[in-house]
Formats: sequence, C-alpha cells, structure tokens
Amino acid sequence: MRDRCERCETTALPADGPARICSYECTFCVPCTDAMDGVCPNCGGELVPRPRRT
Ligand SMILES: [Zn+2]
Ligand SMILES: [Zn+2]
Repeated sequence: MRDRCERCETTALPADGPARICSYECTFCVPCTDAMDGVCPNCGGELVPRPRRT
C-alpha cells in the first residue's frame, strides 16, 4: 500500500487516515481527488474512500 498521494507526492497518507483509491490501487489524497472529480488520472477508474485498517 502506498503511503503518499500519487498526484501531489507531498501529502502523506497514513493507513488510518483519509485517502481515495481506485480499483488498481492508485492512491490519492482527498483534495487531489476532489480536484480530479473523483476520476483516477492513471486508469480512468472511480476513486473511492480507502478502507481503513482496524
Ligand atoms: Zn494529493
Ligand atoms: Zn487508477
């Protein structure tokens, strides 16, 4: 699991924090996801909230 946003590459995405992920596991922070209208720029898939580890 990636621990950084793939778009801005500066926002850390800890496993227990908010993040968005597509079906190919491209991972982004929430502000980037909003800026991209919830569409993955790599594969065109829908970005959904990443499940948190409990
Ligand atoms: Zn980002
Ligand atoms: Zn993707």
